[in-house]
Amino acid sequence: MEDLSILNASELITLNPIEGLGILKNASISIKGGKISNIGLPKLAKKEIDAKGKVVMPGFIDPHTHLIFGGSRANEFELRIKGKTYEEIANCGGGIINTVNATREASEKELFESAMGRLNYALCWGTTTMEVKSGYGLSLRDELKILKVIKKLNDAQPITLIPTFLGAHEIPPEKKKGEYIQELINEMIPKASKFAKFCDVFCEKGVFTKEEAKKILQCGLKFGLKPKIHADELSSSGGSELAGEIGAISADHVVYPSFQGIKLMKKAETIAVLLPGTCLFLGHKPSVKKLIDAGIPIAIGSDFNPGSSPILSMPIIIGLACILLKLTPAQAIIASTINSAYALGLGNRIGSLELGKDADIIILNVSSYKEIPYWFGFNPVQTVICRGEPACLP
Ligand SMILES: [Zn+2]
Repeated sequence: MEDLSILNASELITLNPIEGLGILKNASISIKGGKISNIGLPKLAKKEIDAKGKVVMPGFIDPHTHLIFGGSRANEFELRIKGKTYEEIANCGGGIINTVNATREASEKELFESAMGRLNYALCWGTTTMEVKSGYGLSLRDELKILKVIKKLNDAQPITLIPTFLGAHEIPPEKKKGEYIQELINEMIPKASKFAKFCDVFCEKGVFTKEEAKKILQCGLKFGLKPKIHADELSSSGGSELAGEIGAISADHVVYPSFQGIKLMKKAETIAVLLPGTCLFLGHKPSVKKLIDAGIPIAIGSDFNPGSSPILSMPIIIGLACILLKLTPAQAIIASTINSAYALGLGNRIGSLELGKDADIIILNVSSYKEIPYWFGFNPVQTVICRGEPACLP
């Protein structure tokens, strides 16, 4: 007998095969031992949930967040509304450095508690896996503090957290850039590699150049950290080219990719992680068509962070992806599940409903997937199941 059966879903969105939603109508799904054990016809189980009139699909996978930080940047939000740009605010001591100061002052316990509240919220909006970056410490001590908090959070709540080392998020104010890059390479990456799966760099004018980013990511690779890149977010800075050259698993933002960058990303099978929350807050309009026409797989994430995207809800991100980036609802669902799974190197374990995969499943209070972006701002999530265990119920 199965542990749990979810019966009669109006739409069971399997995401199998990839590049299609794989919708089964009036279908059921069962779970045993935390894995998907049956799809299609109903099967007897110890516990049953009736999903008549509802959508059942894989949990959302958020492939890009800066979940752990101290303070807030509501004041800068106001400055931006009054007309200051992201760069102008950063030049006056605001921006990332503002959050770095607040994060350095915060204790491990304070960071744990604030992030725990955020994770509970994300869970109720259907996120079952989340990538989490360090990057607001910018010193060995504070970056390790953040990575340890991620590890503790992973053990303490149902969302699976995937840690990324982003020591190269910015240059700390007390150091020269060259000196900091040496510290990253000689001290920080070797130690951070024990806690992280990926290494990320903010490759951007005024932050790390393409050549500097390459050095840092190559060092990460030496210590087993797969490369990710904040690429071409504010200007065309060589990030997409580097992503392709180094074989990054994803290039994130990609608002201003060059033609050559797109070509190299395609060749290296790099996934473009688009971040529509940031596009909303900073007024960016990425050319998604260029990427799609080139055959680059698209994932979407929240980029949750205190400066440019204080949005953690994946249904809202899906809505924004449709409205701002002109993804169709189907493309946005694929981008927030199976493609996000691949952007985290987890495509064989999560992101679709297939036999043997982890039972990360959500039940939604809508009868068609098209209603997810349409009822913008409305939380459609009724039940969240993480690795077979109901984690968030109505
Ligand atoms: Zn980011």
